[in-house]
Formats: sequence, structure tokens, C-alpha cells
Amino acid sequence: MSKLQVSKTKLSKPKISKPKVSKPSKPKHSSALLVSGVLYDVFLLNPLAHTFKILLTLDNPCADQELNFPEWIAGSYMLRDFSKNLHNLGAKQNNKNIPLTQLSKASWRVHCKSSAQLTIEYDIYAHDPSVRGAWLDDTRAFFNGTSLFFECAGFADKPHFVKLHKDPILPQLAPTTQDWSVFTSLKEVTISSTGWGLYSADTFEDLVDTPVLMSQAWHEEFEVGVGANAVKHRLVLNGAPPSFDGAKLLADTQLICKTIIDFWHSKSKPVIKNYLFIVNVVQDGYGGLEHKTSTVLQCKRSDLPSIHKSAQTDAYIGLLGLISHEYFHTWNVKRLRPTEFERYRFNVENYTEMLWFFEGFTSYYDDLLLRRAQLINDQSYLKIITKNIQQVLQTPGRRIQSVAQASYDAWIKYYKQDENTPNITVSYYTKGALIALCFDLKLRAHNSSLDAVMKELFKRFAGGPICESDFKTVLEDLSQRAWDKELLEWVHGVEDPPYAALLQNQGIKVEYSAEPLQQQLGMRTDDTKPGVHIKFVLSGGLAEQAGFVPGDEWIGVEVPHLDAPNKRSKLSKPASHHQKSSWRINKLDELSLFLGESKYFDALVCRDQKLLLLRVQFNMRLALANKKGISLCIKDASQAKRWLEGKE
Ligand SMILES: [Zn+2]
Repeated sequence: MSKLQVSKTKLSKPKISKPKVSKPSKPKHSSALLVSGVLYDVFLLNPLAHTFKILLTLDNPCADQELNFPEWIAGSYMLRDFSKNLHNLGAKQNNKNIPLTQLSKASWRVHCKSSAQLTIEYDIYAHDPSVRGAWLDDTRAFFNGTSLFFECAGFADKPHFVKLHKDPILPQLAPTTQDWSVFTSLKEVTISSTGWGLYSADTFEDLVDTPVLMSQAWHEEFEVGVGANAVKHRLVLNGAPPSFDGAKLLADTQLICKTIIDFWHSKSKPVIKNYLFIVNVVQDGYGGLEHKTSTVLQCKRSDLPSIHKSAQTDAYIGLLGLISHEYFHTWNVKRLRPTEFERYRFNVENYTEMLWFFEGFTSYYDDLLLRRAQLINDQSYLKIITKNIQQVLQTPGRRIQSVAQASYDAWIKYYKQDENTPNITVSYYTKGALIALCFDLKLRAHNSSLDAVMKELFKRFAGGPICESDFKTVLEDLSQRAWDKELLEWVHGVEDPPYAALLQNQGIKVEYSAEPLQQQLGMRTDDTKPGVHIKFVLSGGLAEQAGFVPGDEWIGVEVPHLDAPNKRSKLSKPASHHQKSSWRINKLDELSLFLGESKYFDALVCRDQKLLLLRVQFNMRLALANKKGISLCIKDASQAKRWLEGKE
């Protein structure tokens, strides 16, 4: 076990000095460093107009050099057309402008000679607050290389250099960036004490896998391990509120990193020497993107630990899960990776059937390792996996697509979700995590564990590309049994894996209860809007049978009363033995207040400004007796402990 160390760095205080006044100057590129490499000079052209200026220099271009702008960023499987933000593109050779021909939405041919230095100049609009893009305003500059840099044909494996220029080109904006520092895990070449200057990356892929933040951000450092095994970590938060409890987040992040490094390496030398967490804190937002030596996270201010509260909130546990998830990816997807991702192609979709392994198994371990780090207790952990199992079971699309198919279709399904998504696909995150749980528990019944399989894969394939048959081989070698049936049914089939029996064998009791009302009705509502707005109508459910469609606003219900005969009014029509009452509903849960013994009710919905009555065949008493919901609790503590505490 590695020893934990916390370096005693203090909050950096901004230095205050008078802004320098200088005349506007034309951007000048750095002197070209390497004859064979690529140099990008990055200027903060105008933070108020959210615009970077890039000068790209090739000392030895190809004749008719081709330039390709990336169309997606690794880890986020959707074509994003980053070149839409590119403008003012021009090229020069021997101090003369030379023509370019546009070949597609993201590629150009420069009509240059191979004998002289080539300079390409262009501007990038940067106003994407997500972890995937680029941002520039008067509070921070941030970019992923995929949003800023052309890939030069023939140069992908050459060294790439980036020079970060501190002062905006407009001198009146210089005070804006005066107290900013640079945070990146690019290799330092020549930099100032605040990190401005020249960096390098071995290849284009390394360059665009290393994001850069420039701002006056909260930052701290810690180490995990000692001596030659020590790994230096930096934690940087931009936008944290004054109530932020930095010491708590730092200590908890350190514990997560230690647990994950111990998981993969035990006492051996870790595969990383340095790691950087960049966290952008906003009012509303959530997400993370993994990189080889860093990650970029986005969270809400209310997710952060507060100096005014000692209790751990669910939102904070969610943030710790995100930190754990992205850090685990350092090994699982950034090093162990699908064979199809051995070399990324940034101008087309890169398909793989294995996201259930790389995202699903990472999702399994992100929470399990929080439990092993003792950041959450057994009850909290069982609550998290119960929620995950429910999410899978409540998705009709799990009967339509396997997780292998869902992985392949990520580009058009998971990343392009619409009102029908739950009906035709399944999340390779949630079902992938459920499959990981089932592999782990079944392996434990055969004297092994998924922990052992993951470590063996990393060792045997030198942390490099793997395919499904490699996973199968290691499974079989460690457990001395065949796994064809499980792979066929769980990964390539559409039946539910036998999670309940496997959990029970591991000392966990599975209890059954009524499902939530939404699930009973076969719908999902939009919680972000006041009132009851239908977001999804699940296939085969009561809502679909009644005629609900996504987008309906459910306003009220008409409920029949089954009156006793002697209480019936003499004025009642002879054929009618009941009366109706009508109710406005503001939340779906209010429905249980108004439903009596009837086998149906009528829903009043608004669709395209028209009011409609939809008959729903639903009986509350029968619904409550239908126990399809689950909850988990510890039955045999010593048996459960082996799994929960990671003993093989
Ligand atoms: Zn992930």
C-alpha cells in the first residue's frame, strides 16, 4: 500500500501590479523550433469577442499541404463540426499570401511549395461552456486542442509545440489576463512562473488529448505514493463559491486517487507521474471528459462541499463518483482501449462494440471504489446500485438492442437522444455496469474476481488495445471455465442478467416493492418544468395504450366514483351508477390522492393548445400489489464484505 502525502501548498494570492500600456501589435509567431514539427502560437485575440487567434507554422510543409480540422473529440462519440467556429483563414509563404482550396467542411489544401516555411493564420470563436470545446471570456480561457488546431497531413506523429501568449492582442484588454495562470499537463519547454510560454506533445493525438485552462483559479496539489512511485496531482477549480470547502474536496480526491492507483498497481510503479483535474464550476451543468494525464469536469456550485455543512449530500457523492469515473478511465479507455481506437481518426466516426466494457465497467468501479475508499457506506453503495438496476429494468429498449449494438450506435443513439430513445436502445453505461456486477459476482463464485481480470488485462496487453476475445481469454484463464454463454446472453443478448440470484449468493438480500407511479403508467415526466409534462412514453405501457404522446401537458383527472346503491341520487340517470369528480394535478404523485377503486380514470391533457380526454385503464390497488421494484440490503455481512472491500 502506498503512503498518502498531502503537500502543504497554500491558496495562490493574485499579484497586483499596474497594467502595461502598449500599442496594438500584429501577432508574431515564435521562432520555429523543430524543422520536422508543427508549432501553434495561441493568442487571446479578444476575450470580449470570445476569439482566439492561431498561427500555425510548418518549417517543412508538404507541397500542396493538406489541413484537416478535427470533427469530434475522443471520449464523446458525436461529430461536432468544430470547424464551424473557424474564420479568417489565410496562408503565407515567403511573405506572400498564397491560395487555399476548401475540400470539405473541415479540410483545405494550401497551394504551397515544400521548400519554404509555411504560416497559416486563423481565428476561432470560443464560447462553448462544456468540457468538450473551447471558451474565452474575461474570466477564463480554456480549450481542447480539437477545437483549436488543424491536423497537418503527414505530421500526425511528429512533435507538436504550443506557445501560449498571455496578453490579448488588443492592449486595452491586457489587465483582463494579468493574474491568470496556465494549467495543463502538456510537456513544459520554456515557461514563466505562472505557466505562460512554450509546451510540447509527442504527437497530434497527445496534443489534442491535453486540455489547457488559463485563469485565476483555485488550485492545490497532493501526492499519492512515495519515492519513485509518487504521483503528483493538481486540483484546479474555476468558479468555486466562497463557501467551498477546498480542504475536504482535496482530501477526498486524494483518497479516490490512492484507492484507484492501488487497484491497478498494488505496490508497483504507477503508469502516470503527473495528473491534472480541471473543474469548471457553474450554476447548472454536469459532465466529465477523460484524458491520458488529465480530466476536465463540470459541476454545480451546489454540488461542492461547503464549510457551513458537515453532512455529505447526494450531490457531493455524485461529484465524487464523477471524479472516480474519469480518473479510472486513465487506465480503462485511455490506455486499455478498444483496438478500433488504437489510432483515432478525427474526421469520421470511430466505431466500437465495446463501450459496455470501457464505459460500463468504469461506471461499475467508480461507485464501488468510493465504497472501498470508505467515502460512502454499504447502505449508500447498495442504494446506488439499486438505482442503476432500476434504470436498466425501466428501459424497454433493453429488449431491442444489446449493449454491444448500443455501443456501436453511440454516435446516433446515446449521443443523439430524443423522445423515443428509451424504447429503442439501452445505456451501455447502466447496463454495462450491471454486466460488470454480474461478471464480478459470478467470478467470485469461481475463485476469481473482476478486479483480477482487469489487472491481468492491463498487465497482459501492456495497457494497450484489446478486443472482446482478449477479455474472454483472461476470464477463462483466471476462472478455469468457459464464458461464451454469459458473453452471448449478457453482452450480445437482450435478456436481463441474473443480478438477483448473484447478489443473493453474495450475502445481499433482494426485496421487492411496488414500482414508482411513472413506471406503472409507462411514462417519464420532465422534472425541469412546473406541472406534469410528458417527456417519454414507454413502449407497451399504459400511457401508450391511452394515447399519450411526448410533449403532452397533463392538466387534470376525471375520476369515477363507485357509489353504494342506497346513496345514489334519485336524479341519477337510470343507466349511470356513478358520478365523476374532476381534479387539477400539479405533480404526478398527486394522482394517488384522487384515485379510488375504479379500474380507469380520464386524463385531461393539453396538446397543441387543444384539450383532450384520454382514458387510462389503471387501478391503484392492483398497481400497488404489483411488486416489480427492488431494494437491496446486507443479509450476510461477512460474505458481502469480501466483495465490497475488494478481497479476492
Ligand atoms: Zn466515462
